[in-house]
Amino acid sequence: VRIICDYANMAKKTVKGNTIKYYAFYDESMRKKLICDKNIENEMYTALDTGQFVMFLQPKYDIKTSKIIGAEALVRWQHPYKGLLTPDKFIPLFEKNGFIVKLDEYMWERACCSIRKWIDNGNPPIPVSVNVSRLHIGDPNLVETLDRMTGRYNIPKKLLELEITETIFYDNQEELLKKLNKLKNAGYKLLMDDFGSGYSSLNMLKNVPFDVLKIDRNFLNETLITDRGKKIILHTITMSNDIGLNIVAEGVEIQEQADYLLSCGCCVAQGYYYSKPIRLNDFEHLACL
Ligand code: C2E
Ligand code: CA
Ligand code: CA
Repeated sequence: VRIICDYANMAKKTVKGNTIKYYAFYDESMRKKLICDKNIENEMYTALDTGQFVMFLQPKYDIKTSKIIGAEALVRWQHPYKGLLTPDKFIPLFEKNGFIVKLDEYMWERACCSIRKWIDNGNPPIPVSVNVSRLHIGDPNLVETLDRMTGRYNIPKKLLELEITETIFYDNQEELLKKLNKLKNAGYKLLMDDFGSGYSSLNMLKNVPFDVLKIDRNFLNETLITDRGKKIILHTITMSNDIGLNIVAEGVEIQEQADYLLSCGCCVAQGYYYSKPIRLNDFEHLACL
């Protein structure tokens, strides 16, 4: 009976929202997922301490000149026996159990460290954007943490750009607005990540002092296939340019997309057409750093 109750509880946890109104049936995959998550949780601290999390960089290109003008830091887990793991295998769990805070700070540090190295080598520094999770936005010490890091590596704050995803914009808007303004006033650049993937995009644009808008990969791919969609992209870009927001188009996979974006007034693209996320060494080679 106890085991059956455990299974029932596992099923219950998969129900989102109202557990009185909705129900779910237990199946074997739920137990496997739980075991898999437990394994990851047993390994994550060691992984962080032993440098198994690796910063990959995906270049951002100036569409007109095909020059690299920035990069996004994306994490990979070089697992000792599972191989190279992409973030979808572990980030959702880390967001649930809070470990994302530690991992993100590690990534920010790696980014600062690389920027310092490029400056030391006498190269014009390239800004690196890092992902900021929902949990960090709630952290009252966020600005201090970032200041400490940029201070330790003595790099201009504007070179560490902060990608904040639209999906965090659901709860407590006023509080969020205050926090984002604090980051902005401290000197950090704010990028609105995944624009077009959520529901509150326009409202947020109106209220939050973002510097850059990143058009979501799926939004771009789904819209560019119809005339109607193309117009939506065009007017999104025109509107952003009008209010002084820069645009980065994510997930650009073919030349036609890049051409169309440029014709609409979007000058920066990130996507497989230009480069996948790559290791630091390869990025430095590509960007001649
Ligand atoms: P994101 O921030 O939207 O990152 C962009 C994702 O799109 C990356 O996936 C990148 O590899 C992928 N991508 C870029 N260009 C193309 C393209 O042309 N075609 C296709 N099909 N995909 C493209 P990745 O690296 O698997 O990361 C997935 C997500 O995991 C990221 O989405 C981000 O939300 C999260 N993530 C990754 N690293 C970190 C991190 O260090 N901290 C946090 N909090 N989240 C992270
Ligand atoms: Ca991002
Ligand atoms: Ca994105």
